[in-house]
Amino acid sequence: MSSNTDFVLSIEDLTVSFDGFKAVDKLNLYVDKNEIRVVIGPNGAGKTTVLDLICGKTRATSGSIKFKDLELTRMSEHQIVRAGVGRKFQNPSIYENLTVFENLEISYPKGRSVFGALAFKRTAEVVARVEEIAREIMLDEFLGTEAGLLSHGQKQWLEIGMLLIQDPELLMLDEPVAGMSARERELTGQLLRRICTNRSVLVIEHDMEFVKNIAHKVTVLHQGKILKEGSMEMVQSDPKVIEVYLGH
Ligand code: ADP
Ligand code: MG
Repeated sequence: MSSNTDFVLSIEDLTVSFDGFKAVDKLNLYVDKNEIRVVIGPNGAGKTTVLDLICGKTRATSGSIKFKDLELTRMSEHQIVRAGVGRKFQNPSIYENLTVFENLEISYPKGRSVFGALAFKRTAEVVARVEEIAREIMLDEFLGTEAGLLSHGQKQWLEIGMLLIQDPELLMLDEPVAGMSARERELTGQLLRRICTNRSVLVIEHDMEFVKNIAHKVTVLHQGKILKEGSMEMVQSDPKVIEVYLGH
């Protein structure tokens, strides 16, 4: 199958081996514009490694990762971020002693011109954008609050906001609702539903209620390969999926 440029993300024959062990094994994965794709599967299936490969943290042994018409396997982590791929890790990397406003402000894309980084100052444009994102992530009442004082769920939202302010076309989240309350999980689902109208979202998650709530399509990964892919209903009722994952 040849690459289809209508996909935001086209992964073909992607393999990475660590000392001969194939953590990802000839993977093909296609994500549409405005799609929320959820990747599930048992521990060690290779889910996080797939995100590491896409964001350039881990180098592929072979295969291709196309983001629109860009070949990501040949780009640096920094170039991949600049091209419009944002990735949230499992543990939030916010600045606890800075306010919500300041955390968002420092994530505002700088250096779009040669003098950007030097000329950067708190312009009305930056303030408006920070406030817009704060509303989106339900933290507009907390702009002056030190990030360290936020709840666990609010910290996760802040980190999502720090990515959103860079306006990525592909946003990747590794277990975003782990440790969240039921209410926070519900609000996070609504947040992802809102933001996917302008971008594609690739999520790794174990919480099946949440997955059911947000996924347009589910990919089940097992031993670095796709075990099943399709609607939540289709995946949930698959005997192999139940055997290796959902039955546990
Ligand atoms: P998942 O996120 O699905 O739980 P991972 O992608 O973290 O799984 O890991 C898949 C497999 O690859 C595991 O067996 C893990 O130990 C191995 N692995 C991941 N990253 C590395 C690495 N940098 N070096 C060696 N082995 C790794
Ligand atoms: Mg993982």
